[in-house]
Amino acid sequence: MLNIVACIKQVPDTTQVRIDPETNTLVREGIPAIINPFDMQAIQAGVELKERYGGRCTMLCMGPPMAVEALQKGLSYGTDHGILLSDRALVGSDTLATSAALASAIRKLDKEERVDIVVCGKQTIDGDTAQVGPGIATRLGFSQITYVGKIESVDVEGRRLRARRILEGAEEVVEAPLPVLLTVLKEIGEPRYASLPAVIKGLRTPVPVWGIEEMAMNRDEVGLAGSPTQVRRIFAPPQRAGGEIIASDEGNPDRVAALLLDRLLADGVLEG
Ligand SMILES: Cc1cc2nc3c(=O)[nH]c(=O)nc-3n(C[C@H](O)[C@H](O)[C@H](O)COP(=O)(O)OP(=O)(O)OC[C@H]3O[C@@H](n4cnc5c(N)ncnc54)[C@H](O)[C@@H]3O)c2cc1C
Repeated sequence: MLNIVACIKQVPDTTQVRIDPETNTLVREGIPAIINPFDMQAIQAGVELKERYGGRCTMLCMGPPMAVEALQKGLSYGTDHGILLSDRALVGSDTLATSAALASAIRKLDKEERVDIVVCGKQTIDGDTAQVGPGIATRLGFSQITYVGKIESVDVEGRRLRARRILEGAEEVVEAPLPVLLTVLKEIGEPRYASLPAVIKGLRTPVPVWGIEEMAMNRDEVGLAGSPTQVRRIFAPPQRAGGEIIASDEGNPDRVAALLLDRLLADGVLEG
C-alpha cells in the first residue's frame, strides 16, 4: 500500500492570456483557470500507482479559494482526497516559499501516515521555473527523480522506485529509495476521461482548507515576507526583425564574401 501525494497548481490557460502592451502585465480577466497541464500527468501517475500497488492519492493545491475547482476536477479522475492550502499570508509566494508551504503540508500528512511518493509536474505554464518539485524534495530530505516519462516499478517491501528519465537525446533508468519525489513529463499520459458520476463525486467530496497555522508555519516563511524573488515586470520581447540578405552578385562569391567581411567589421562582430 502506498501513500501518494500529487501537487497540482491552478494556472490561467495561457493559450488565452495576452500581455497588456501599456502596462506589460498579464491580462487575466475573463481567462479560464485550468489544472497546470503537467499536473494532469502528476494526477495520472498518482492514480496509476495506487491502482497498481494499492494505496491512496491525496492532492495538494496552494492557491486562492477558487483553486478548489482544480481539486474537484482532480478528484473526478480517481484521486482520493484534495487539500487546498489557502491563506492571505501565502499571497506573493515565490518558489522558495511555495516549496516551503507544500513541504510543511506534506510533513503534516506524513505525521498521520508515512508518505511514500510525492508527484509533481515538471513545471508550470505560468511561473515556468521547474523549481518547486526539487525544492520540496530538498526540504523534506526525500530522494528525487526529475523528468520522469515512465514509472517502471515500485518495490513496496524493499522501499525502492525505478523510473525512466527522458532527457534530450537520451533516456536513463534510475532507482531511488522511498520516500521519493518525482517530477513528471507528458509521456506519463493523461488521466482517463472522467465519467459523470465521478464528476458528481468530485463536487461532493469535501475539500479541507489549510491555512498557515494548520501547516505549522510562520508568516515570515511565506508570502512576500518569505520570498527573496519578486517578479518586477512581465513583457513580450520585441519581435526580431528579419536578417539582411547579401545578394549573390551574379555568381561572384569573392565579392559577396568581401561585402560580408566589411559588414561584420563595421558591426564590430570581427576585429580588423
Ligand atoms: C509569469 C510569472 C513568472 C514568475 N517567475 C518567478 C521566478 O522567476 N522566480 C520565482 O521564485 N517565482 C516566480 N513566479 C512565482 C511562481 O509562479 C510561484 O512561486 C509559484 O507558486 C511556483 O512557481 P512555478 O509556477 O514556477 O512552479 P514550478 O516550479 O514550475 O512547478 C513545478 C511543479 O510544482 C508543483 N507546484 C508549483 N506550484 C504549486 C502550487 N501553488 N500548488 C501545488 N503545486 C504546485 C506542481 O506540481 C508543478 O507542476 C512567477 C510567476 C509568474 C506568474
